[in-house]
Amino acid sequence: MTLTDQLTGVRTTPRREVLISGAGIAGPALAFWLNRRGYAVTVVEKAGTLRSGGYPVDVRGTALEVVRRMGILPRLRDAHIDLRRLTFLGGDGGEVASVHPYTVTGGVAGRDLEVRRGDLTDALRTAVSDDVEFLFNDSVDTLDQSGHGVDVTFSGGGRRTFDMVFGADGTHSRTREMLFGPEERFHRYLGHCFAVFTMRNTFGLSHETVMWNTPGRAAALYAVGDDDEVHAFLDFARPEPPYDAFRNPEAQRDLVAAAFADAGWEVPGMLAAMRDADDLFFDGVSQIRVPRWSSGRVALVGDAAYAPSFLTGQGTSLALVGAYMLAASLAGRDHTAGFAAYEQDTREFVTVNQGLVGEGGATLFPATAEALAQRDERLRGLRTVPAAQGRPAHSALTLPEFMPMT
Ligand SMILES: Cc1cc2nc3c(=O)[nH]c(=O)nc-3n(C[C@H](O)[C@H](O)[C@H](O)COP(=O)(O)OP(=O)(O)OC[C@H]3O[C@@H](n4cnc5c(N)ncnc54)[C@H](O)[C@@H]3O)c2cc1C
Repeated sequence: MTLTDQLTGVRTTPRREVLISGAGIAGPALAFWLNRRGYAVTVVEKAGTLRSGGYPVDVRGTALEVVRRMGILPRLRDAHIDLRRLTFLGGDGGEVASVHPYTVTGGVAGRDLEVRRGDLTDALRTAVSDDVEFLFNDSVDTLDQSGHGVDVTFSGGGRRTFDMVFGADGTHSRTREMLFGPEERFHRYLGHCFAVFTMRNTFGLSHETVMWNTPGRAAALYAVGDDDEVHAFLDFARPEPPYDAFRNPEAQRDLVAAAFADAGWEVPGMLAAMRDADDLFFDGVSQIRVPRWSSGRVALVGDAAYAPSFLTGQGTSLALVGAYMLAASLAGRDHTAGFAAYEQDTREFVTVNQGLVGEGGATLFPATAEALAQRDERLRGLRTVPAAQGRPAHSALTLPEFMPMT
């Protein structure tokens, strides 16, 4: 505050303006905390509205404390989907094992949360909507840091200058590309591709997942509630990422159909539903590893900087914790010192969580017959009651206190 501000009690200093690219999980969470720090926050999102996609995401460990401090924990507890059973089937459709999902994912019953992604984005958006400017159907075209701030041009034609810019634009981040170059440098492909889409729940499934496997292939039906939709999931091993298919939905459908051509169980019906699905999401299973998370006045957060892959189940939690740590690191510091502190205090947490890819979830998708037999053996020996403690990686960071205003 200026001296006049202090004498009059009225803040006359202009609020520093910042821009966040991406309104997924990390973007709105960062907007919330930067707004608390007194910044005037604008969020630009290329989609026309917040994506309400209903696939389930996990909020665990340290991230639970972030949502508690945001005041949205009770709302998320109400939205908890309470999956009760995860059943594994062999290639012939016979049951291999049926377990509580948390015995596989390392979740803690009664503490960790699993919510529809749309319920989380709604809660985040409601927490910030009065205080933050959202620009939908637009995106950053160019960033120029040669002056005193960041000069931004938008693809919609706008032009503005911000004190700082944040890339919260996901795994295929354009902000990261503008700062550090093409995605291939930072993309660690994990040897699988996957497709998710919704289809009618004609299977009588409720609060449960059923997964069919053969070596290198997994097909799952995920019923998050009692409604008449299930999330269909098809994962297949593929040594090289199919770059040509990433921007071509028809090529993606062909690729998935070819990979599952002779598959049994409910897969033929799933493939037929995929052809008509209007919400097909296809991607390679991969992590993002970037040597530095910022350059000048621009910093990355969430999947854009450190996507851990869905195999860890920690993408949402890393995005929430990363957003908090980034905003907290700017307390009393300029962007240079603040971004350095963010990275210094958060990187270890990211590294141990990305390391989970070798545990739990990853081993659910074995590529060889031998590995699949070993997995099935392990599943048959699992305890039916989940452990009282989550994986240490989930809580491997203690949040600093948050100072509300600069
Ligand atoms: C099928 C699937 C299943 C998953 N399952 C789980 C799970 O079980 N547990 C879990 O924790 N995580 C899971 N995840 C991962 C989780 O969804 C992500 O890790 C998490 O959403 C990361 O948040 P983010 O905000 O960094 O990125 P995103 O959620 O990807 O958000 C990025 C946003 O940026 C926008 N955007 C992109 N480019 C631009 C641009 N150029 N300009 C403006 N806006 C742009 C996008 O439209 C999007 O809204 C899953 C992901 C998928 C796809």
